[in-house]
Amino acid sequence: MKIVKMKRENLSSFLEAISREAELWAPVKKGVDTHAFQVVKDFSEIDLNYTRTILPPRKILVPSRFNMFQATKTEYTPDFSHVSNKIIFGIHPCDISGLLTMDKFYSYAIEDPYYLESRKKAMILGHSCWPDEHCLCKSTNTHIVEEGYDLFFTDLKDFYLVWIGSTQGDDLIRLVPDLFEGEIADQDIQRFMQWREDRDKAYSSEINFVAMADLMELRYNDPVWAKLGEACLACGSCTNVCPTCNCYNVEDRPVLGAEHSNISRCWDACTLENYSGVAGGENFREKRADRLKLWYTHKLQAYISKYGKPACVGCGRCIATCPVDINIKTVSDSLDGANPDAFWNRLSQEVTK
Ligand code: SF4
Ligand code: SF4
Repeated sequence: MKIVKMKRENLSSFLEAISREAELWAPVKKGVDTHAFQVVKDFSEIDLNYTRTILPPRKILVPSRFNMFQATKTEYTPDFSHVSNKIIFGIHPCDISGLLTMDKFYSYAIEDPYYLESRKKAMILGHSCWPDEHCLCKSTNTHIVEEGYDLFFTDLKDFYLVWIGSTQGDDLIRLVPDLFEGEIADQDIQRFMQWREDRDKAYSSEINFVAMADLMELRYNDPVWAKLGEACLACGSCTNVCPTCNCYNVEDRPVLGAEHSNISRCWDACTLENYSGVAGGENFREKRADRLKLWYTHKLQAYISKYGKPACVGCGRCIATCPVDINIKTVSDSLDGANPDAFWNRLSQEVTK
């Protein structure tokens, strides 16, 4: 791995050069205080001063709906028309870790060609960030990343230190080598180390993830789940915003007047009622409490035994999104002995202020 330096004023020239290579995606401000990844042509739209986007970058690789193949009576034709060369700029370490989790999931037992093809054609250009009160990535050890990117930009105000993580990343630098400097002065290194130390101290929220797998087991039949289930609105938002969630549904969409059917794939959420419905009208997880328990079993227990890490990268999206304050922090705190009523008491106080 090599690290080079780039003056801040060179960023636009660099983006200009790389945007000729592939479709450029980056964070853009939406509304008052929200951000979203989108294709950018006008670089002044890019806002790197963000904490988290509404949806994680997996939405770029796996769109909320796409056609998987066309089927006739005798054959099927795969459809990869949604896959194209992309450069995704400005991804934070937690979201890069989310993609690494997806990589494992989508190639663990049966390879998912749609995800893997999209991933192969996407270059990941990470960017450093600063935590807010919802960020838990220090607890998940995903506040820094050692892999999963082609380039990674650490913002040190008037310059960037740029980690080169792949030969493709190196090729991007070679498009405009004059924008980069190979020599990193001692004062630049000191600035970076100070920035790291200050950032580590800026985290204000944490979860004891090490204990969570055991607590999920020990509290599997705890009444806390019924309480959480009562409050849950079953809106599915926590699932849609999570960078490691990957459930989908497959729909047969006949094309009227044609002799084929489109087989499409769309995001689904295990927190939604119909997710566990089967033919005949049975539903194995009719109760919201059971669906929440499934979600958190995956996050806090099942992924650890399968992949060695929780399926939480600490992005804080479920905290920022759930309208009734059920999220990885409040659920973990409940499992750890906190009374969940306190969350809703706090909410009602905030509402009446
Ligand atoms: S569980 Fe919540 S904090 Fe963890 S990765 Fe998913 S959305 Fe982010
Ligand atoms: S936990 Fe919150 S965000 Fe998730 S489904 Fe329930 S109400 Fe919606």
